[in-house]
Amino acid sequence: MTNCVFCNIIARKIPAEILYENDDAISILDINPIHYGHSLVIPKRHCKDFLELTPESFAGVMAVTQAVSSAIVRSLNLEGFNIFSNNGAIAGQSVFHFHIHITPRYKDDNIKFVLELKRYNESEIIHYANRIRRHLAEPVSPTMKESNP
Ligand code: AMP
Ligand code: ZN
Repeated sequence: MTNCVFCNIIARKIPAEILYENDDAISILDINPIHYGHSLVIPKRHCKDFLELTPESFAGVMAVTQAVSSAIVRSLNLEGFNIFSNNGAIAGQSVFHFHIHITPRYKDDNIKFVLELKRYNESEIIHYANRIRRHLAEPVSPTMKESNP
């Protein structure tokens, strides 16, 4: 996609610090890192988000994610790291070409999701499980309620 920043990095039209690439995916350093070494793994074929990704493409992305995570852990001597993906603007996605973040973590680095955890009562937990299970019989749908670019 011509106006996609990650497609343009893959096509070498925009510079990036490329860590690794193969036929399936490319890994680059994030330009605005949570911690130095924060990296992205991006499938070569453009797709908007996780729901548009094929299982084959996801397998390739995960293989690269594991290899790059291992290199980051060893090179920075880490005790831990996060891998995550934002899907949909409401979930924090800002580049609409699927990607996985790999972020180094450090003791007392003060990075936290501030969460107010809910509790289910017995009927609610069954209700939510049934709602989700009903849709598992259907094929994966790339449509989300939010209109994302
Ligand atoms: P998200 O907000 O989950 O869609 O993540 C997009 C990420 O891409 C952000 O962390 C940005 O800092 C990063 N990013 C955007 N443009 C570039 C670029 N040209 N090179 C490297 N990283 C980028
Ligand atoms: Zn793209």
